[in-house]
Amino acid sequence: MLLGCLAVMLALVAEAQARQAPLRVFFVDVEGGQATLFVAPSGTSLLIDTGWPGNQGRDADRIVRAAHSAGLDKLDFVLLTHYHVDHAGGIPQLVGKIPVGTFIDHGLNRELDHGITEKDYADYQQVLAAGKYRHLVAQPGEKLPIPGLDVTVISADGREIAQPLAGAGQANPYCAASEVRADDQTENGRSLGVEVVFGGLKILDLGDLTWDKERTLMCPVNKLGRVDILVVSHHGWYQSSSPALVDAIQPRVAIMDNGESKGGSVATLKTLRAAPGLETLWQLHFSAEGGAAWNTDEPHIANLPGTDVGNDLELDAWATGRFTVKNSRTGSVQTYAERP
Ligand SMILES: [Zn+2]
Repeated sequence: MLLGCLAVMLALVAEAQARQAPLRVFFVDVEGGQATLFVAPSGTSLLIDTGWPGNQGRDADRIVRAAHSAGLDKLDFVLLTHYHVDHAGGIPQLVGKIPVGTFIDHGLNRELDHGITEKDYADYQQVLAAGKYRHLVAQPGEKLPIPGLDVTVISADGREIAQPLAGAGQANPYCAASEVRADDQTENGRSLGVEVVFGGLKILDLGDLTWDKERTLMCPVNKLGRVDILVVSHHGWYQSSSPALVDAIQPRVAIMDNGESKGGSVATLKTLRAAPGLETLWQLHFSAEGGAAWNTDEPHIANLPGTDVGNDLELDAWATGRFTVKNSRTGSVQTYAERP
């Protein structure tokens, strides 16, 4: 009887501790590619994109370093937003350095006139053909079967959610002033984009989804509602981040995975810095194009010119809606209280 009570109490304590543990997100510096590692309180891990190939395994090493710092010895899920070299190119090196459970992607590569992309895709197919991994193809609107993480697919293979997310669907006043652009024909527009919800917090990562696809997602009605943390699309390049998206979702924090000379366009920096409700723009790198005028302030940049050792940014998020962002260059941590 006593032992039974003790077991119940221990289970309750463990449950309470799990509730208090943060969702951890590591924005790994892969020099203008993407590699974003989510670690749920349960320990389940999801890596979004794998960075570049080559460079003596630099990006795989940086991802593994982040995984080890989170106490992981494997990656449960690796999601590829699309097959461009700065996202999918790092797969062969990564699987040589850390075990992977399941790969998730948007299906076939459809960019058949681009040699580097075709090579990356072929290399990835060879990795899958080894038969060591589960493989899932994601569809817009579905929840990914990742235990302990609430991940909804927003876009995949050029298609998007047909219905607004719960609580969204309001008319979007920012469509009128947002320029209409031609359809993107590359893998960018086929990006597998997701929203991760943790308690009261929403994190949006649309990969390199392009301006035209933002419009179909966000106009005439805003199908996403408000977002707390925006992983800036396409490394902050001007081909994404229309006002129709950025202004309407009103992120408190935007985190840009740019390189010094890749992404971080002036037009995008301007849009982000003027976005309603934005408290902080964080950047993985100082953008050479942005210069002194348009980059965010230095404490919010992980890598300054000439000092590139691959510093990352680390987000810890609690289910209450409170979160912190740490700049590993300085060690400083900024806290964001729950939304009032
Ligand atoms: Zn990219």
